[in-house]
Amino acid sequence: MTTIAERLQAVQAYIRAAEHKAGRQTNAVTLLAVSKAQPAALLREAYAAGQRLFGENYLQEALNKQATLTDLAIEWHFIGPIQSNKTQLIAQNFAWVHGVDRLKIAERLNTARPEHLPPLQVCIQVNVSQEASKSGVLAEGLGLLASQIALLPRLKLRGLMAIPAPRSNNIQQHEPFKLVHELQLKLIQQGLALDTLSMGMSGDFSAAIAEGATIVRIGTAIFGARTSNTSELTQPNWTEI
Ligand SMILES: *Cc1c(COP(=O)(O)O)cnc(C)c1O
Repeated sequence: MTTIAERLQAVQAYIRAAEHKAGRQTNAVTLLAVSKAQPAALLREAYAAGQRLFGENYLQEALNKQATLTDLAIEWHFIGPIQSNKTQLIAQNFAWVHGVDRLKIAERLNTARPEHLPPLQVCIQVNVSQEASKSGVLAEGLGLLASQIALLPRLKLRGLMAIPAPRSNNIQQHEPFKLVHELQLKLIQQGLALDTLSMGMSGDFSAAIAEGATIVRIGTAIFGARTSNTSELTQPNWTEI
């Protein structure tokens, strides 16, 4: 049995190795621990081992954990799909939102972001493999959406997020991440100051880091399999670097 502290350390070591292999700066990549479907006690354990950024997909589950963990200085990231009727609580209770893909959602988050908090840090989710999910803006609509979101004063547009269709072959994994990076560079050329690429999960984060990820969102490799969700990849291959 390995502990969460040991797995966190192993994941961090693999991130450093992947940065090095890709010729990127040490610590260019930040680890977001994805704790959906995991109990608050495990987040506390990860926090004790030094982890500060946690990602949650389901609002009510996240709010319950936040209420249990108020004594910890966690930076909370909302990474799930965002329904309109959830925008107020998301804007009030998270530092980052990764899956914004419509202006209407961005506007609602902007309106609901409390004045006493810093602007909500936002990534636009891009749909780079249409078979994988219906979430995310298509590349064609990205430029317009990004320029509109950049004007909202209570949001801070940081970059792009993507969840490519799972591919077990490491070489095939690179292609969608490379595309996301190219889209980011285009937006930067348009004048937007974007510093974030949120991409890479337990099964594909070495490819994502090679293609420029700055935040990797990793659950299974830290916390083990989520028993309550059967739609996930069963075997992460994150040990292949
Ligand atoms: C669940 C999830 C992850 C983490 O996936 P793992 O394969 O467990 O690492 C990352 N990003 C999003 C958006 C997720 O929903």
